Amino acid sequence: MKAAVLYGKEELNIVADFDDPVMKETDALIKSKYTGLCSTDRTLYRGFVPFKPPLIIGHEIAGIVEELGKSAKGLDVGDHVIIPPVYPGCDNENCPACREGLTNRCKNSVFIGHGVHGGDAEFISVPSRYTFKIKDSVPLDEACIIPDAVSTPFHALKSRSVPSHIIQNSSNPNKLFDQATHWLKGKNVVVFGIGGVGGPTVNLAARYFKAKNVIAVDIFDNKLDFAKKLGATHTVNSKVYFEDSNIKINELGGRDRAKAISGLARQISSNLAEDKFQVDCVLDCSGVSDTFPVAVETVSKNRTVIQVGWPPKPVSEFLNQKIMDKYLTINGTWACPMNEMEEIVEAVEKNIVDLNLLVTNKDYTLDKLENAIHDLEAGKILGRATISIE
Ligand SMILES: [Zn+2]
Ligand SMILES: [Zn+2]
Repeated sequence: MKAAVLYGKEELNIVADFDDPVMKETDALIKSKYTGLCSTDRTLYRGFVPFKPPLIIGHEIAGIVEELGKSAKGLDVGDHVIIPPVYPGCDNENCPACREGLTNRCKNSVFIGHGVHGGDAEFISVPSRYTFKIKDSVPLDEACIIPDAVSTPFHALKSRSVPSHIIQNSSNPNKLFDQATHWLKGKNVVVFGIGGVGGPTVNLAARYFKAKNVIAVDIFDNKLDFAKKLGATHTVNSKVYFEDSNIKINELGGRDRAKAISGLARQISSNLAEDKFQVDCVLDCSGVSDTFPVAVETVSKNRTVIQVGWPPKPVSEFLNQKIMDKYLTINGTWACPMNEMEEIVEAVEKNIVDLNLLVTNKDYTLDKLENAIHDLEAGKILGRATISIE
């Protein structure tokens, strides 16, 4: 089959006759139609994370069921499907994480397009139980971003946003996480970093979770304009703020740096004057380490900061006093558990997620995958790019 194969650092070849996938009895063979381009693909391509070559990359996949193994369940040939990038590789019963429902934290997690071959190829074989049907009315060149770019912020917002003391003191904690009565409804959310994941975070916070205000923070005006289209009520360009205030943040340390950071935090929350500057949840999607101290400074007391984007290095500031003093809930998040995937599919089918806005580049074919990675790196892709496999 035709496949985009990584043979080593920056050695991405389009191969015409790569071995077809070997199907297990419980597998579905999927004809991969489109993949979403993720910064993880770039990280692999540049050799920033180890992998075992040869590797077919691509982990945000939408396709059509081509064939079913003898014991495959729940699917028919011809079904349109999406495949989550991370699925459990255990038997579920003896895995502590999966037993708690955290299939995204399985001790034997399988990473498509990293640990095993991915979807930038004509075919991929995956366990049928971890393959999700989607209505034919959802275009596959948009559906492919659901499994990662949409599901990761969905899980963060749905399950990681509620402060622990609120859960403890609720007579019906389930209601805090239900869409109709979700805790975020009517609350104020700040999102740092409007990239491939920050965009869907803004969109979901505004449209699905019905936050009252969503403030987008970035250093590029075109990304902030994009955030507005996705539902942001306010935007702050942190670079412009520092320039206008004559602050060279990278040259500052100690107290001066802390002062500059709190100035930016005040600038962000000044948009919420009518709500007494209350910031209920901050999501750091920037993938920049220095954003975390700003996130901690921006959030209101007794509220939540969620680390959504992977920071390349630890933060330099000590924040333990601040975290304690503000009684913060600091949450990590990672991919999306299987039991939330169906809720996302439902939201997409009901048109509550603006996939058509989130996918901004549809012109890349598999042969142009390397160009797409270069464009992503150069900041030329505003939202998500999708790759057509044919
Ligand atoms: Zn990804
Ligand atoms: Zn497991």
